[in-house]
Amino acid sequence: MTMPKLEVIAGCMFAGKTRALVRRVRMLQEEHQLVHVFKPAIDNRFSVSDIVSHDGTRQRAGIVPTDDEYLTDGPGIVCVDEVQFLSSRTVDRLMTLLRTGAVSNAILAGLDLTWRGEPFGQMARLLCLADRITKLQAICACCGAPATRTFLADRSVWEGTVVIGGAEKYEPRCFSCFEDGMRGHTTEFVGGILTPPPHIMGRDQPCQ
Ligand SMILES: [Zn+2]
Repeated sequence: MTMPKLEVIAGCMFAGKTRALVRRVRMLQEEHQLVHVFKPAIDNRFSVSDIVSHDGTRQRAGIVPTDDEYLTDGPGIVCVDEVQFLSSRTVDRLMTLLRTGAVSNAILAGLDLTWRGEPFGQMARLLCLADRITKLQAICACCGAPATRTFLADRSVWEGTVVIGGAEKYEPRCFSCFEDGMRGHTTEFVGGILTPPPHIMGRDQPCQ
């Protein structure tokens, strides 16, 4: 089967995106393919130099500076984790590498939506450009249904778009439970900062 030029693995947190990417990397390496693994500099949750999934799966990776267009000069297959953090220039660079044949294929993984439920960074563009898309789901922390959203359960940090964190801050939710959690709380901006009402602060009401 011919490998797609640009493949994107997308989904919410805890859906197994990094695990799926690392599995692909290892299969390609077993086939003696030349694979370049990268992650954006901003993602330093578990390791500065490795990509690491929530279950501890680990793969050595190079770093893509978020404001730099450098990706790779070599031939082979480019694999990048957490691509929602890539800059538009880096995506431009990647597409040029694919068009010119400087790299043969790219496999990218990342969050499709922010904790506000909006398209995350360059991911919307990458999903349009992709030849193949795999959307993975987690299990809703509230009701057990397939989860497609990432809910920022630590409401003390409800501000901005990017809040780096893992299970201590986030939980996967289905569409309905995500909306239940966000309802009525997304429009209260004070000085540009989202401020949840005092009665929903803390985690004593995790599924509202
Ligand atoms: Zn649910």
